[in-house]
Amino acid sequence: MRFANLAGRLVRVVGDGTAIDLATVSRGEIPSDPQLAIETQWERVLEVANLAEQPGTPFEESDLLSPVPRPRQVFALALNYKDHAAEGGQAAPEHPITFAKYPTCITGPFAEVTLSGDRVDWEVELVAVIGRAAHKVRAAEAWNHVAGLTIGQDISDRTVQHRRPVPQFSLGKSFPGYGPVGPYLVTPDEFKNRDDLGLRCSVNGEDVQKGRTKDLIFPVAALVERLSAVVPLGPGDLIFSGTPAGVGMAQDPPRFLAAGDTLESTIEGIGTLRNRLRAPEPAH
Ligand code: ZN
Repeated sequence: MRFANLAGRLVRVVGDGTAIDLATVSRGEIPSDPQLAIETQWERVLEVANLAEQPGTPFEESDLLSPVPRPRQVFALALNYKDHAAEGGQAAPEHPITFAKYPTCITGPFAEVTLSGDRVDWEVELVAVIGRAAHKVRAAEAWNHVAGLTIGQDISDRTVQHRRPVPQFSLGKSFPGYGPVGPYLVTPDEFKNRDDLGLRCSVNGEDVQKGRTKDLIFPVAALVERLSAVVPLGPGDLIFSGTPAGVGMAQDPPRFLAAGDTLESTIEGIGTLRNRLRAPEPAH
């Protein structure tokens, strides 16, 4: 099944451009707020959505917001594709290299994003959404704790991220709007192979990144195992799984996002994020 956040309400997407409002069909049993619904009763959401048989109501894709708008925790992975590690001159890591995207950076799939400076970069990523609490979960059980998959853009201010003497990944990747997510939350059973999805990113229509999630060094199940070994994961938490090669800072000469650019991030079987970049705001 495919879920979305239509102007603040949780919907099941049933056909091309039509959706069923789950609070309405459940007569208010399911909260209309997508975050609350996922956090408090994801199992019930699945049951209700599965039984909903009425035809959907047409909607505009541009009215969609992040399917998980206010996650409590947002994990992200550095160097989780060999080709991306190599383009940064790094070896493949032995352990997942984890940082946080602070939840206030999350924005909608078609939101405009205000640039923070002149060295802002793109990173298309598969994002796993937790649906059932997970603490010390083994990889073999991990998918039972995943509500579904969506797309994320790990927009990165390379100046802030690489400030000396110690890198500041969490800060450099958490400006407001630096985490577009969506447009759909797709349950794992919808994919022929949930561990091998094509993903790509383009700037103004020109492809800059292209990869497949089968090349993740630590795939989704391994990430749930490794992260939940330390931190209890809760429903509605997000895991940005890392980006393949083709980021702007690795190009020669390096290339960064500019005001007016359109950034598109696509994953097979999920959809496309489309975000326009806006000029930095003056300090006040
Ligand atoms: Zn990233």
